[in-house]
Amino acid sequence: MIIVSACLAGFNCRYDCTNSYNKLIAEMVINKKAFPVCPEQMGGLPTPRPSCEIKNGDGNDVLNDKAKVITIYGDDITAKIIKGSEEVLKLAKMIGAKEAVLKEKSPSCGVTKIYRNGEIVSGMGVCAAMLKREGIDVTPPE
Ligand code: SF4
Repeated sequence: MIIVSACLAGFNCRYDCTNSYNKLIAEMVINKKAFPVCPEQMGGLPTPRPSCEIKNGDGNDVLNDKAKVITIYGDDITAKIIKGSEEVLKLAKMIGAKEAVLKEKSPSCGVTKIYRNGEIVSGMGVCAAMLKREGIDVTPPE
């Protein structure tokens, strides 16, 4: 059993109530090979919600208390993003997941890319960084 971003499985959990459907991921969930999670919802954020970006760093910098996650309205939602990531980690440990396939470019789930000032840059999201630190293999979908 692996962890996957819920939006990849077709859940409308993105900030604008849409999904990022990926047929292979959805089939893994249907076949009980993957468990869908949305760290932003699990951290207590609503859907829809304002989009957000990591300012001055990436997910590792957030975990090192050197960067913050800020919405387009300027609100600091770092604590909720970290809480949601911790909940995902808790679930991953509970089901013994050693791998996670996460949605690229998200401030929570991004594996190699995130947005900064509206541009795509190299970096990890907060949840991806946290899972990786705990030895879980984190990859984007194929
Ligand atoms: S936090 Fe992750 S699972 Fe949730 S909508 Fe964003 S990319 Fe998808």
